[in-house]
Amino acid sequence: MAGNGALDSRERDAVLSRLAGERFDVLVIGGGITGAGAALDAASRGLRVALVEARDLASGTSSRSSKLIHGGLRYLEQFDFKLVYEALRERDLLVSRLAPHLVRPVSFLYPLYKKVVERPYVGAGLVLYDAMEGTRRPVPHHRHLSARGARRRAPALAPDRLAGAMLYYDAQVDDARYALTVARTAAAHGAVVATRVSAVGLLRAADGERVTGARVRDEETGRVLDVSAEAVVACAGVWTDLVHELAGVRAGYRVRMSKGVHIVVPRAAVDASTGMILRTGKSVLFFIPWDQHWIVGTTDTDWSGDRDEPAPDEADVEYILAAANRVLARPLTRGDVIAVYAGLRPLIDPQAGNGAKPTTRLSREHVVDTPVPGLASIAGGKFTTYRLMARDVIDAAVAGFGREVPASVTGQVPLLGADGLAAAWPAAGRLAEDYGVPRAAVEHLLGRYGTLAEEVLALTRADAGLARPLAEGHPYLRAEVAYAVTHENALHVEDILMRRTRLFIESADAGAAAAAEVAAIMGRLLGWSRRRRAAETRRYLDLVQAEQPVLAMDPSAEPDQALATAG
Ligand SMILES: Cc1cc2nc3c(=O)[nH]c(=O)nc-3n(C[C@H](O)[C@H](O)[C@H](O)COP(=O)(O)OP(=O)(O)OC[C@H]3O[C@@H](n4cnc5c(N)ncnc54)[C@H](O)[C@@H]3O)c2cc1C
Repeated sequence: MAGNGALDSRERDAVLSRLAGERFDVLVIGGGITGAGAALDAASRGLRVALVEARDLASGTSSRSSKLIHGGLRYLEQFDFKLVYEALRERDLLVSRLAPHLVRPVSFLYPLYKKVVERPYVGAGLVLYDAMEGTRRPVPHHRHLSARGARRRAPALAPDRLAGAMLYYDAQVDDARYALTVARTAAAHGAVVATRVSAVGLLRAADGERVTGARVRDEETGRVLDVSAEAVVACAGVWTDLVHELAGVRAGYRVRMSKGVHIVVPRAAVDASTGMILRTGKSVLFFIPWDQHWIVGTTDTDWSGDRDEPAPDEADVEYILAAANRVLARPLTRGDVIAVYAGLRPLIDPQAGNGAKPTTRLSREHVVDTPVPGLASIAGGKFTTYRLMARDVIDAAVAGFGREVPASVTGQVPLLGADGLAAAWPAAGRLAEDYGVPRAAVEHLLGRYGTLAEEVLALTRADAGLARPLAEGHPYLRAEVAYAVTHENALHVEDILMRRTRLFIESADAGAAAAAEVAAIMGRLLGWSRRRRAAETRRYLDLVQAEQPVLAMDPSAEPDQALATAG
């Protein structure tokens, strides 16, 4: 039976006791979209499930993507028809049934510069793209636009060579919030979810063969404990090879890391009423509308540095600006860039070590392996296809159980906040009145929490101050910070500013000015001393410096002010 899946950070000790004391059917390592999906897949089959995440939910690649739920138009050119077909079906399922509060259609304009050859070529691709959709069609079909029609929708495009455009539709998502919501839905189906708990070893049966669980370390206290499970499922993204090493096994594949960087610019910097996709030499460049901003990217380069901190560099930003400026009438400059973020694609490389193919040419399909009994692992894939990935890796894990396990049912399990959504939007005005907040605030919450929005608003009854905005010029309420602690496993300031909200990429100071207030709200709930609040604020400000080195924030500005109020 599903509960409300609250991941209450104040109950962390009880969660750790459960990890140590219970025997699980499945232990998932990794709390990105793949691990969260695997936990939900297994829990909704009636299995006893635990998930451990070394840092925060979605702190790896799953908060650093282009945030598109898409078939991937460019994979058609690589003849990856199966991937595109599956991804489009998944897109439609998420938009229409499983997560309509989180996954929304978005249009993309594809400008054409060579009238004769390009339009039929791209047009044929889009006919195929649309034809691969399911029958529900929650996303409109593509359209042909004249040069005038293209300019009307995107005055930002330099008019000189523009021959026309295609307009097509995909979908977009707040990736971190989506992964979190999947993890919560897993918890609602009984999964035990623990963050800042790393798998540091794998347990073996007495005969030394079969994996029977994992030794894990609580990263907050250093405490080590053993978690026993019939199967361990590794969903560790770019850390997958390291998990295989923990097991002392060689899997049938290796993961190759490819860095992808995005820049964020204000909406006003690019005059267009639709997203845009441009062809670049190696790949494509997206302009993705993101509330008051554009996310522009991405890059695709081999990475062999630190997995934990894939830092964007100067060359990445220059590449994106140059690619964007090839088509813009008013060029973007460094001054327009308010944020930069980087993520690592966990690509499957069958020829690892030979460096044969550039990463743009590597398939985005996923691979499942069972390198040793009791351990199944998965890597590759896309955010969009996480549900299929989860199904496949859990199928592999339970194949060794020697008993009947129900098939995956996640295609019929809406995420928390989706059920009853149709009736929630019309009630927005009433909720706004009941809680004394602007209607826009309720609509903002509905778009992030769906029908759980009222749980967030309810926190303002006990503390009216929580109804106030968290940061000037941004829609987030202080209640969302409290809710992230009581329902979303947030343990540190960065969990809130980087992932529960997206102020890290949405504000020019990366959320620094709000850090002290976040620490204060969290501190009240988690019993932090003044010293701890100041330390948590400082920790966030240091992280901002480390993650956005190319922006070189002025260290004398907001951070000091933030620390002063934190004290
Ligand atoms: C730049 C970029 C753009 C992208 N854009 C899109 C897009 O628009 N659409 C799309 O569909 N896909 C996109 N992708 C791909 C997609 O983001 C990834 O495929 C997906 O997020 C990978 O999720 P994951 O759960 O496998 O890995 P991750 O999100 O990295 O999760 C792995 C987790 O495992 C944890 N972990 C590792 N080791 C341990 C351990 N020992 N113990 C406990 N936990 C551990 C890590 O902390 C991490 O949180 C993009 C990727 C990139 C890099």
